[in-house]
Amino acid sequence: MESRICLTCGVQFPPSEQPPTTCPICEDERQYIGWDGQRWTTMAELMAAGHRNLFSEEEPGLWSIGTEPSIAIGQRTLLVQTPAGNVLWDCITFIDDPTIARVQELGGLAAIAISHPHFYDSMTTWSGAFGDCPVYIHAADAQWVQYPGPGLQLWDGPAREILPGVTLINTGGHFAGSTVLHWADGAGGRGALLTGDSITVVNDRRWVSFMYSYPNLIPLTDAEVRHIVEALRGYTYERIYSLWQGRVTTTDGDGALQRSADRYLAHR
Ligand SMILES: [Zn+2]
Repeated sequence: MESRICLTCGVQFPPSEQPPTTCPICEDERQYIGWDGQRWTTMAELMAAGHRNLFSEEEPGLWSIGTEPSIAIGQRTLLVQTPAGNVLWDCITFIDDPTIARVQELGGLAAIAISHPHFYDSMTTWSGAFGDCPVYIHAADAQWVQYPGPGLQLWDGPAREILPGVTLINTGGHFAGSTVLHWADGAGGRGALLTGDSITVVNDRRWVSFMYSYPNLIPLTDAEVRHIVEALRGYTYERIYSLWQGRVTTTDGDGALQRSADRYLAHR
């Protein structure tokens, strides 16, 4: 029995004799089925194809991990180091022994937290490599979990502090359970917001934006954008890290969110 991985979205499914018939993540209107139809791969095939993970230090206590050549959506994951243990923010599909060894050198994993279903990826395999550490997913997105593992922790409510100074906030929007991570000690103590693509940093990196579907360009409603701003009221943060390499708002992050929401609503 093998765990199949959807080639288009990178999400892993439970071990089975036959590949699943469909990928519910890709069938959803926020994603798409690959132009060559539904295709599957496995971790062994990805290893044989020569993928590897590259680590880079974003700032003291924050590492990004991305796969070369890229897989599926091509996002990175972020590793937040804290005195109480490390948190992997969002997940990537690929994991191998050198990756596990490097993460162990950086202090291992106390928890994994994920912004939304497109980044569930190989979360159960990652968790299993680090003692079945908790995988925090907002309960509003429980229906999208394809491969639950022993670490899965569905959390509920507007916010949850999972380690001192590391707080998950449910913004909704992209998905009902869309979540961001506030890291109080980030940016030299001025705070950092790790957003996945619940909030995305755009090419003019002084700004962010919001979407119901990025690949299919379906916007959010005004009410949903206002709710994202309200959900983050009271949190201060200098930097915003999205899920793409280099897409970082480096100064006045909380101001950038408000200005960006105002601009978005002015264009609606
Ligand atoms: Zn898929």
